[in-house]
Amino acid sequence: MPKRHRIAVGALLFEGNTLSPVVSDIADFANRYLLRDGEVLTGLAATNTEIAGALELLRLREANIVPLIATNGGSGGRVAAAAYAQFKDEMLTRLLGALPVDGIYLALHGAFIAQGLDDVEGDLLAAVRMLVGPAVPISVSLDLHAHITPAMTRLADVIVGYQHYPHDDTYETGRRACGLLLGTLDGRFKPVMRACRAPLLLPAQKQRTKGTGPMAEAFARARAVEVTGAALAASYFCVQPWLDLPDLGFTVVVVTDDDGDGAGWIARDMAEWAWNRRRDFAVPTVVPAIAIRHALANSDGLVVLADPSDCVGGGASGDSAIALQALLDHAGDVPSAIQIVDPSAVRQAEIAGIGAQIAVGLGNKLDPAYGAPVHVEATVRRLFDGRFTYAGGLMGGVTASMGPSAVLAIGAIQALVTSAAAYEYGAEQFLAAGIDPAALKFIVVKNPMNFQQAFAGAPSFVLSTPGPTTPDLARIPWQRLSRPCYPADEDFVPNFVAL
Ligand SMILES: [Zn+2]
Repeated sequence: MPKRHRIAVGALLFEGNTLSPVVSDIADFANRYLLRDGEVLTGLAATNTEIAGALELLRLREANIVPLIATNGGSGGRVAAAAYAQFKDEMLTRLLGALPVDGIYLALHGAFIAQGLDDVEGDLLAAVRMLVGPAVPISVSLDLHAHITPAMTRLADVIVGYQHYPHDDTYETGRRACGLLLGTLDGRFKPVMRACRAPLLLPAQKQRTKGTGPMAEAFARARAVEVTGAALAASYFCVQPWLDLPDLGFTVVVVTDDDGDGAGWIARDMAEWAWNRRRDFAVPTVVPAIAIRHALANSDGLVVLADPSDCVGGGASGDSAIALQALLDHAGDVPSAIQIVDPSAVRQAEIAGIGAQIAVGLGNKLDPAYGAPVHVEATVRRLFDGRFTYAGGLMGGVTASMGPSAVLAIGAIQALVTSAAAYEYGAEQFLAAGIDPAALKFIVVKNPMNFQQAFAGAPSFVLSTPGPTTPDLARIPWQRLSRPCYPADEDFVPNFVAL
C-alpha cells in the first residue's frame, strides 16, 4: 500500500498593476473568496479554481490534506501592506501548526505586488521554505501573466502556468501542479527547473491560445515537448505588462526529470521563438467615434466595443466613461450597454429610487487621470445587490459581487453602474442586471481577451482610449522597467536571461 502523503494546500492570488492608483484590501479578497482551514476543503466545490482541481486529485490519491488559507483578490494596483502581512501570517501559522508535511501545493498568481513589496510570491515562498527546509517539495501554479522572478524559480521545485488564454483551465492547472508534486513524492521523477526570459512585453489581445494566432503556436510547442517526454511541464508566461518593474519580460519555465541542460535548452528555444514572433502580436486600435460610425454603416446585429484600457481584470478601476461619451455623441438613440464603477452615482440612484430622473456625473472619479465624469440626465431603471455567478473562466462557478448596483437609462443607452469592480468573463454582469446583449447594437466590454470567446462571431473593435491597462505598451511612461525592452525599445540585440 503506497504511503499516504501529507500535503499542505493554499491559495493567495492577486494581479497587480503599477499604473493603477487602486489599493486593494482584505474586503476585496473576501468579495471573491477568503477561506480558512476546513472552508478551503468545501468552499470551492463545483468551481473551476485551481484549489478545486488540486483537491480532486489529492482525494483520489487518498492524500492527507492540510488546508491553509485560500483567497483571490482579483486585480488592482497594489495590495495594502497590512492585508498581505495578515495573509502571510495566516498561511505560515497554519503551516507551522501542521508540520511535518511531505509536500506543499500553492495556487499563486505571480504578479502579486503589495505596498512596499514588488515580489510577493518570492517573499511568501522564502518564508514557506524557511519553515519546511530544503527537502520538502513545493509545487506552485501561476497565471499565464506571472512575472517570474529568480526567487520563485529558486524556492519552488515545480512551477506550472495556465496553458490557456482566455484562462479556462485553472482547475486542470491545479490538478497538474499536484500531479507533479505527488509524482515527485512517489519517486517517479526528480524535477529540475530552468527558466529563460526574453526582453519582451506583449499586448493581451493577441495572446489567444486557441485558433491561429502566435500564442496558439506557443501552446503547440509546449505541448509537443511534454508529449515526447522531453519536459514534465513547459510553461510560457507572457507577464502582466502593466508592471513598471525591473526585469520584466516573456519568461519560459521548463521542468524536466533530472535534466537541467535539457530544461535550459527548451526554455531558451521558446524564449527565442517569442522574440522572433514579437511583431505578430501588434494590436490595431480604433478611436471610439470611428468604430461606432463604421459599425452603424456596415454591421447588422451586435457589435462589441472593447475598451481594454479600463480592464478591471488587469488592475484598472473600471470607472472610465470615455466610451459612454462616444456612444452619447454618435449613437445616443441606438440600444447599447456599458458598465461603469461609480459608487457615488449608485447612492444617488438609490436615494432617488426606481423610475426617478436624475442628473448625474458618471465615472472617472476613482482614477481621474484619464478623463472627467460624463454629465447625463438618466432614468433609474433598476436597483439590485450586484451579485452574479461566473459562467466560465478562471472564476467559473464562483458567485461574486459588483456591490450595490443600478441600471441607468440614458436615451437608448443602459449604463450598469456598480459600487465595486468585478472581473469580466462573459456577459454575466449584464445578464444579472437584466440587460440582454442579444437586444443591443453595441456592448462595451472592458477586457482584452475574454470577449473574443464570450461574443465569438460578433464584430469587434479594440478602442484606442487612455487608461492603466492600455494595449499601447510602447507609450507607457516607463521608469523602472529594465531597458532595452520591446516595444518600449525597437531596435536592439536581445539579451536572453537564464533564471
Ligand atoms: Zn492572466
